[in-house]
Amino acid sequence: MTEATNEAFDVLIIGAGFSGLYQLERLRAEGFKVRLFEAGAGLGGIWHWNCYPGARVDTHVPNYEYSNDSVWPEWQWSERFPGWEELRRYFAHVDDCLDLSRDIDFNTRVTAARFAADIGQWHIEASGRTARARYLIACTGFAACAHIPDIAGLDSFAGPCHHTGHWPQAGLDLTDQRVGVIGTGASGVQVIQEAAKVARHLTVFQRTPMLALAMQQQAYVGDDEPMPKSAYPENFRRRVQARGGIADIVQDPRAAVDVSEEERDAVFETAWAKGGFHFWSGSFSDILTNIESNRLAYDFWRAKVRPRIANPRLADLLAPEEPPHPFGTKRPSLEQWYYDVFDQDNVSLVDLRSDPIEAICPTGVTTGHGTHQLDILVLATGFDSATGGLTQIDLRGTTGQSLEQVWRRGVRTHLGLAVPNFPNLLILYGPQSPTAFWNGPTSAEVQGEWVVKCLRHLRENGCGVIEATEAAAERWAARIQAIAHGSLLPLADSWYMGANIPGKTRELLFHPGATDYMALCNESADAGYEGFELR
Ligand code: FAD
Repeated sequence: MTEATNEAFDVLIIGAGFSGLYQLERLRAEGFKVRLFEAGAGLGGIWHWNCYPGARVDTHVPNYEYSNDSVWPEWQWSERFPGWEELRRYFAHVDDCLDLSRDIDFNTRVTAARFAADIGQWHIEASGRTARARYLIACTGFAACAHIPDIAGLDSFAGPCHHTGHWPQAGLDLTDQRVGVIGTGASGVQVIQEAAKVARHLTVFQRTPMLALAMQQQAYVGDDEPMPKSAYPENFRRRVQARGGIADIVQDPRAAVDVSEEERDAVFETAWAKGGFHFWSGSFSDILTNIESNRLAYDFWRAKVRPRIANPRLADLLAPEEPPHPFGTKRPSLEQWYYDVFDQDNVSLVDLRSDPIEAICPTGVTTGHGTHQLDILVLATGFDSATGGLTQIDLRGTTGQSLEQVWRRGVRTHLGLAVPNFPNLLILYGPQSPTAFWNGPTSAEVQGEWVVKCLRHLRENGCGVIEATEAAAERWAARIQAIAHGSLLPLADSWYMGANIPGKTRELLFHPGATDYMALCNESADAGYEGFELR
């Protein structure tokens, strides 16, 4: 491993997930002197950290992989929705193909970075070492900052207590244990399904029911593949043109309310049978903008789920008659046997709306109805999404203010890529980009290639600094909030809206529609990087 102490680089990348590794490979090929700092001990980004039982991707393959033809031809998936172990093996394969680790410092967390305007360089502090770089590319993902809820007595719990995003790398056996899971978001659903199989008793603490979709998992045995390898290049080409970066998830342009009941049911049934995110983003175009259409989708969803829950009290809590929020305005999880586990004798559901947590004690979780005795406590409580991973770094631009201070009043970026007064800081898969509404690898490549071209342009034009203008950032924020208000998204207290974190500004954190988004990024580049100052 190269000792990087105060070494100077053209580019320093933070994060070894899909985005950071793409940058490393591409910028190295372009002749830049590049180094990557990664807080974790291995490759894979979130798939390094999220190794809890059941962790798996909700995007079906081969959409969830690189399109690099040095990588995909030799890779074989065993499942349509692979788990974290297989994703880690995939990243090892990527490393074998592209020889990336030689330019990565693992166990190296960037804690601070300050832009020295006089020399146009970032000074970076990371795990006790320093480095300098002209460009700092933050590929910290949207889930680098776990949200640990402020519950009285949490530290007093005597048994193992882990956030899903900080699961012990050595694993944790839930067999025959009394397990409590707080949270029923995407990670909660996954861990609950696995814990219910082996735990002596599983207690699920639910605040909001998860409107989970049928995964329709599939195993690829022997020579089975998601599609013939000859079809991969076309699939990669099509995923770039898809709104959410998944080739075959394309909306029906019609409104759900405008078609007959038979036609509507046929579209819903088809999307449901395809599984994955099809029912969320591959049915009618107005599901997230028209409350009536949204209700039709909810009622269809409920009709699918409700018969699977025998106990009427549980059915009311898990799939209530009235939607807890408009369907799809919180990120739906994919499930395989989630709704079936609650009728099991070893599973109980605590409704935190009517019976809130009062405290955590050494032996369990206390609500108004007494203490639920537990050996293991799982915090499936989500993340300070998109912004938290960036603001937890003491990033300081030209005004001396930290990014955390600047964004307290709301996020300001141009195109989600750069922040006024933070020259040469480029952000991928961050706030005000499509991010959570975009397939991770597609984003890494498409948004990532914009950054590669931008740095090449700067070099070819003798520029050493790029900075977003304040005016452009104001316009971009206004655009995203206008999109939000034209949709149903603000009606849910979701992490899309920053509403899961106490005190966080309530605003839509992502730009829906990756194709529109990239068109605007490309227009800016074609117009000489409109909205940025180059010098
Ligand atoms: P990440 O994979 O998040 O990688 C970021 C890396 O940056 C991490 O390795 C982290 O350790 C590192 N890092 C952060 N801060 C620092 C620092 N200060 N110093 C050094 N290193 C740092 N997306 C989908 O498209 N489909 C899915 O089904 C899907 N499922 C998901 C499930 C979970 C549980 C989570 C958390 C996310 C999921 N995502 C999914 C989103 C996922 O983040 C992207 O698919 C993809 O991983 C983004 O890659 P990335 O490189 O941008 O970020």
